Amino acid sequence: MNLRIGNGYDIHRLVEGRPLILGGVEIPHHLGLLGHSDADVLTHAIMDAMLGALSLGDIGHYFPPSDPKWAGANSLLLLEQVNELVRAQDWQIGNIDSVIVAERPKLKPHLKNMRDRLATTLAIAPDRIGIKATTNEKLGPVGREEGICVYAVALLLKKQ
Ligand code: MG
Repeated sequence: MNLRIGNGYDIHRLVEGRPLILGGVEIPHHLGLLGHSDADVLTHAIMDAMLGALSLGDIGHYFPPSDPKWAGANSLLLLEQVNELVRAQDWQIGNIDSVIVAERPKLKPHLKNMRDRLATTLAIAPDRIGIKATTNEKLGPVGREEGICVYAVALLLKKQ
């Protein structure tokens, strides 16, 4: 089989005194995401989608939050490592799609930057990465701005 699909989900809590980083882009906001690394929830969901496609486990396995080595880690560097893992097994990214669910701030002006940053990190064309943003219509924890979550899928192709 030369096609594989994986899905990833992640959620992080919004708190004061932390930067808001999505897809490697710092977004001006009075709240940021709490986490052991830089808490880049978009990049985390994408990594899990890529790992899931190849049945390689999840990011907690490779970058455990219990390991001080990953404290404050730039998630793009972790993504680079996951990409290397995928490539080492002779797979490549067909495309990635994702949805960021956040009540605030408005993410639309930043989506292109995120896409470009992720594409550069993964060494693929930007049009292979979809990033959409939606609110949760004020429903639930995400709607109350207690956190931001992301759903992602990744299609991988076996190298010929
Ligand atoms: Mg995470």
